[in-house]
Amino acid sequence: MIDSRDVNELHPCLRRGAAELIRRMAAKGYDVLITSTYRDIEKQNALYAQGRTAPGAIVTNAKGGYSNHNFRAAFDICKNVKGGEWADTAFFKAAGAIWEEMGGVWGGRFTNLADMPHFEFLGGLTTADFRAGKSLANNIKMKWEADKVENNVVEQDKKTPGKEGAFSAGSSAEKTPSDWAKEAWEWAIANKITDGTEPRGAVTREMAVTMLYRALKTNT
Ligand SMILES: [Zn+2]
Repeated sequence: MIDSRDVNELHPCLRRGAAELIRRMAAKGYDVLITSTYRDIEKQNALYAQGRTAPGAIVTNAKGGYSNHNFRAAFDICKNVKGGEWADTAFFKAAGAIWEEMGGVWGGRFTNLADMPHFEFLGGLTTADFRAGKSLANNIKMKWEADKVENNVVEQDKKTPGKEGAFSAGSSAEKTPSDWAKEAWEWAIANKITDGTEPRGAVTREMAVTMLYRALKTNT
């Protein structure tokens, strides 16, 4: 029976997500402790039996294969304060808000049995998909990581104005447009869509949108 609280037992995107959640909570002055990560089916069945066919109180409504912990896609936390692990609702709500902003699902939203210490990310799959043998792709990213990649690209564009970018057709040192672009380039200057500098420089998304904006404004 496996009942782990090791984040390394989670799918890599949840492992990174859990670390980020801990960082963001620390920034708010909260100390997070991970209490459960991966649980095998045998352990889940044993938990399900508790309070039913075995002694103790009921702790879960999920049989083996019906908890996302069984598929490395969920983890539980508590407040890392002796004696105050579960009492602070504000703590769990803060963590839930952060997790949702990061693109995950917070158990505090569950309508059948709210589970505030529970955090998961299914990447568009369902527990039934997991049971059927599907799994999270190895390279899948939660929203916060995907956003980070996008921002880095934009940051890179800002840092190297005029430098040849990955999608640039030529050197920005060239002061004249390519022959095939000449007509459009002159039209764009005449219509104030571009100021005419760096005809072969890389373009950022904000520059592209601004040029489209100017072009459409000119025509209306
Ligand atoms: Zn849980």
